[in-house]
Amino acid sequence: MKVAACDILVVGSGPGGAMTACVAAEAGRDVLVLEEGSHHAVDSAPSFSLAEMDQKYRNAGLNVTFGGTSITYLEGRCVGGGSEINAALYHRPLEKTLRAWQARTGIRGFEPEALWRHFEAVEADCNVNLVPGGNGPACDLLRRGAGANGWSTREIARFWKYDGEQPAQAMLTGRQSMSVTLVPRAVRAGARLWPDTRVVELTRKGARVTGAVAIRTIAGESERIEVRAKEVVVAAGAVQTPRILRRSGFVHNVGDTLRLHPMIRVTARFREPFNDLGYGVPTEQVDQFKPELTLGCSYSSIPHLALWMGAGLGDKQARLRDWRRTGIFYVAAVGTGVGRIRDLPVVHEPFIRLPLTGDDLGRLGEGLTRLGQLLFAAGAEEVSSPVDGGAAFRDAASLESAARQLPQGRMPVSTIHLFSSVPMGEDPTSTGTDSFGKVWGTENLRVNDASLFPESPAVNPQGTVLAVARRNVVEWIHGGA
Ligand SMILES: Cc1cc2nc3c(=O)[nH]c(=O)nc-3n(C[C@H](O)[C@H](O)[C@H](O)COP(=O)(O)OP(=O)(O)OC[C@H]3O[C@@H](n4cnc5c(N)ncnc54)[C@H](O)[C@@H]3O)c2cc1C
Repeated sequence: MKVAACDILVVGSGPGGAMTACVAAEAGRDVLVLEEGSHHAVDSAPSFSLAEMDQKYRNAGLNVTFGGTSITYLEGRCVGGGSEINAALYHRPLEKTLRAWQARTGIRGFEPEALWRHFEAVEADCNVNLVPGGNGPACDLLRRGAGANGWSTREIARFWKYDGEQPAQAMLTGRQSMSVTLVPRAVRAGARLWPDTRVVELTRKGARVTGAVAIRTIAGESERIEVRAKEVVVAAGAVQTPRILRRSGFVHNVGDTLRLHPMIRVTARFREPFNDLGYGVPTEQVDQFKPELTLGCSYSSIPHLALWMGAGLGDKQARLRDWRRTGIFYVAAVGTGVGRIRDLPVVHEPFIRLPLTGDDLGRLGEGLTRLGQLLFAAGAEEVSSPVDGGAAFRDAASLESAARQLPQGRMPVSTIHLFSSVPMGEDPTSTGTDSFGKVWGTENLRVNDASLFPESPAVNPQGTVLAVARRNVVEWIHGGA
């Protein structure tokens, strides 16, 4: 078996891992990043295309949790992780969310005032920007429908660089993902990046982790390697991080508390064309019902529309030909279900058991009612049903009565936001790591990704992943300076 050595081993190159590697390498530490996925240029496939799914998604996007309602979930598997494939919407969490996390888990040094400087650094380092010259007709439509109901909306900034270009040109090259921002910075500072290298398990001697065993593939040939490291940081995302830890014998409060934002989607057809793919994912969100509920519009290409129209609409082909008048709209909720992640013998994929609770169904139903009120006020002619085979709606009242009793197990529910599977805090009985991500009972093993969130951030999470990861690694490397 080939052997390599480093000072700090970082597992995963998504937002958590990229930030860890960048800060550590720029402080002069000898960093090696192992990334299971391949290294693709950011413009190697158009955003939200089938080619991108093949290149950069885990299992081309086919992952599912089990429960009364199965929830499909997506993860990035490439250099840069989820940041390479996501909508790149950037939020700071609400101050009350951060305070609630602190009150619940007693995390030290987590006052919003102490965290904002890390968000500011993220905003500068990863180029967080609004769309120049307006964010497009789908966003106008959302504003119009919300305004008619007296609700507030907001343009959400994106990890995107426009350089004076029109949004349509910037959509090809403007994404400010980790492979464009923090990963190259880490490499320039001396970090080694090994893509196509999957960590199988960590090695340990008592309370000290000594490194990892991984499988590295180069030109189709796989070899087993052993990496010896003084410190190990696992940042493989909220599903894979607990799997790696559990496989390596670290099981205390690991993989027992996965949380997510369940989403349902409908399609709506309007009288006038409004669907302009040149803007990418529409950046307007309805603010009015946050933090519990977020309403917005998804990227609505013909294949995506076909996926979300469901079987209840009549002539689907005719509707797809009319794609410029049709869009996909979503309700995202702060989920209340708590899930367990386990590996099963022989099976390669994780077994995740997570309930979609009655509260979740009620919240999604409320969101759907609001969404129907918005869409019909904005001039929708027809809104599809989120229930398998359900007939389309032609007015807000009939949609509302269906939304009151969303059925368990008969709707496609999905998520792209997962977290909290190895929560941080000060109480070892209820958390998996200390206040800065060190796994309880170990001297030199840390977690630094979305797994650490005590609960849902109630907004798109990547900004919080980056800021919290920065806070933690600055504390380890510079003593909080
Ligand atoms: C389609 C989609 C849209 C989204 N939209 C938004 C959005 O608009 N705004 C927002 O804020 N958030 C969004 N998100 C969520 C956001 O991308 C994630 O919260 C974020 O990427 C999590 O960062 P992370 O570092 O925790 O994990 P990840 O980004 O998942 O990175 C983990 C990395 O570790 C690697 N890895 C896993 N296992 C191993 C192993 N055994 N060995 C080596 N490497 C391994 C993975 O390949 C991956 O690259 C979206 C996500 C998706 C999938």
